[in-house]
Amino acid sequence: MRSPRDQAELSEIVALAALNGTHVRAVGAGHSFTPAAVTDGVHLHLDSLDTVERVERRPDGSALVTVGAGIRLAALNSLLAALGLAMRNLGDIDKQSIAGAISTGTHGTGARLGGLATQVTAVRVVTASGEVVEASPEVEPELFELARLGLGSAGVLSAVTLDVVPAYALEAREEPWPLDAVLEQLDTLVDGNDHFEFYWFPHTRRALTKRNNRVAAQTHRPLNPVRAWLDDELLSNGIFGATNRVVSWAPGITPRVNQISARALSARRYVAPSPEVFASPRRVRFREMEYAIPRETLVDVLAEIDAWVRTSGEHIPFPCEIRFAAPDDLWLSTAHGRATAYVAVHQYWRMPHERYFAAVERIMAQVDGRPHWGKMHGLEAPRFAELYPRFADAQRVRAAVDPKGVFDNPYVERVFGPRP
Ligand SMILES: Cc1cc2nc3c(=O)[nH]c(=O)nc-3n(C[C@H](O)[C@H](O)[C@H](O)COP(=O)(O)OP(=O)(O)OC[C@H]3O[C@@H](n4cnc5c(N)ncnc54)[C@H](O)[C@@H]3O)c2cc1C
Repeated sequence: MRSPRDQAELSEIVALAALNGTHVRAVGAGHSFTPAAVTDGVHLHLDSLDTVERVERRPDGSALVTVGAGIRLAALNSLLAALGLAMRNLGDIDKQSIAGAISTGTHGTGARLGGLATQVTAVRVVTASGEVVEASPEVEPELFELARLGLGSAGVLSAVTLDVVPAYALEAREEPWPLDAVLEQLDTLVDGNDHFEFYWFPHTRRALTKRNNRVAAQTHRPLNPVRAWLDDELLSNGIFGATNRVVSWAPGITPRVNQISARALSARRYVAPSPEVFASPRRVRFREMEYAIPRETLVDVLAEIDAWVRTSGEHIPFPCEIRFAAPDDLWLSTAHGRATAYVAVHQYWRMPHERYFAAVERIMAQVDGRPHWGKMHGLEAPRFAELYPRFADAQRVRAAVDPKGVFDNPYVERVFGPRP
């Protein structure tokens, strides 16, 4: 394991490893459910590359901000807030590194918004020869494509330039709804809110909806701290963890427990700075698989999962999380070329997930689902070639920039397949 202190040391480590025929992988926060970051060679921790290098403000208040690639999202959010800036969209936790998050296509929710990698305008990458390349849509555009979302297969990211906006507040509105009402009003909910998502509790027809919308003024109406603790720590983590443990001993009570869980989180409304609304604590251990599907197939896909859960005899105490994204043109983005719904299925880590995930994966295959690169799935390169119109380009660029496979590991080889 190596933790370079600066760019020069990083380049030296990569160049030396490449010379000796040793594999190199960078690891961020290690939050992927796939073995994306493992290596039998040099493991790089870029925690020291965590500062703001440059801020270029635009007249409209937005800005291009260059940060060290090892910075964690929580630290990035704090640094941006101190500059009066914020990310346009984020996922539901802030523990990841920016490099790890973009490399796996990490996303939040919002029908008019893309994932984190769509907010990247340039990268600095150390290639297999140890050369430091600044890549962007104008300079080395193909390397840029693979480097900003390519599982680290183009090289080690040392800096990332982000297109950010003036800091904003979000009004969060969280309400339990009947699932059928959510599905009947789906388009209105998805298109009528900046960030809409819902959690469906398997074995029930209940959902928890989350509507987060920008509010003009920076007037915050925070949750009462006791209420926040009750909802986010006690109900969503403490009691949820305890009920999952109980359910793992007595799986038959899962439907009843899910009915209660779906109602336990009562409606709440508050206004807070965007990073606080996007991220919540997730302390209960689980396994996860997530698929990106064409948005118009969502209702049918959920009906099939529901039918399987009802007839399979499996017990699923964890809710499914449903999110949305705009189409984009990043080669390996799960939302490439299509308005997307994300369906994430989770299982408590002490309970079997294999049959459930395999069944969901079969359902997703029927609608050309694309798995999240950082979450569990069973697909391989030939299927990705069918699912991604620019997959052959990604394979070609990988072969050109890393001909000897310095940045390979078994997961990357499974995803990209043999070099052309
Ligand atoms: C509790 C939890 C909640 C999550 N919530 C979301 C969510 O809301 N939305 C979502 O889309 N995903 C979510 N994820 C998945 C997560 O965002 C991704 O797996 C992400 O990659 C994790 O970031 P990381 O820093 O831990 O990266 P790691 O897992 O450490 O690495 C991921 C990949 O990035 C590569 N990498 C890391 N650093 C570099 C670098 N400097 N240069 C080149 N390559 C690099 C690694 O080699 C590896 O291939 C969640 C995961 C967990 C555990």
